[in-house]
Amino acid sequence: MQFAILGNNRIEAQPRLNGLCSCCSKPVIARCGTRKIWHWAHKSKTDCDNWWEPETEWHRTWKNNYAADWQEISLLNETTGEKHIADVRTVHNLILEFQHSNIHHHERTLREQFYKNMVWVVDGTRLKRDYPRFVKEWKKDGISEVHQTEKSGIFKIWFPEYCFPEAWLKSSVPIIFDFRGDGLLEDSAGLRNNLYCLFPQVGMHARVAELSRKAFIKATTNGEWSLRIQEFINDFRKQDEIELRKQKQTMFRTSNKVVYTWRGIPLIGGSKEFKKRRRKL
Ligand SMILES: [Zn+2]
Repeated sequence: MQFAILGNNRIEAQPRLNGLCSCCSKPVIARCGTRKIWHWAHKSKTDCDNWWEPETEWHRTWKNNYAADWQEISLLNETTGEKHIADVRTVHNLILEFQHSNIHHHERTLREQFYKNMVWVVDGTRLKRDYPRFVKEWKKDGISEVHQTEKSGIFKIWFPEYCFPEAWLKSSVPIIFDFRGDGLLEDSAGLRNNLYCLFPQVGMHARVAELSRKAFIKATTNGEWSLRIQEFINDFRKQDEIELRKQKQTMFRTSNKVVYTWRGIPLIGGSKEFKKRRRKL
């Protein structure tokens, strides 16, 4: 952890300091070595927050985009007595969780149920293949897998499983993928400066927004984020209804022929690649 309680203050780890954990109130000591980022560690083994993980530089940098008193907030579920430390909770009660390590989708769901109004920011460079896979897919426009929609910066994706790690698909909250990593990785495609927001899937397609870091931090700080996300989702629902209606009309016109559909899309024509992938599923 970055902060501990010392007297009446929240203090960052400094050599030879002792404090109390802001979550379980047990003694913590400052660990200020050269190998790991400076942090507070519990003096003895404890079942403080089993979701908490050692922080990386990437994690700490993201947290520090927000006010210090919004960071590491202990939250209690009064019914179950469960307690966890949110990376960031804004004054608008939005939780931001920064995730570098792998997480099972079951575990991800538990955290989403606990935090409710949240957004994940995921380190998209955890595995070597993660970013190249994304670039390959993202740059493929024209093959009909990534479509720019009417709204600029929003894309429909037929095969999100080819873009993003499996555990993050089908989430009930928005997921931000950050592919910048430690900033030292080569970026010939120039996609690393922006962030990619995978929306909770509401209809037939996965949707992704490309946005700048600045815009994301601003919207999550000033409280606009949750509102905007809800507006987008309502809009997606409407778009899907219109699309479905159009499809039904097409189906009616072609009702003397057999029309196969997949994920609600009539499979008439389509690229070779599209057909190949469809066969695999
Ligand atoms: Zn603790």
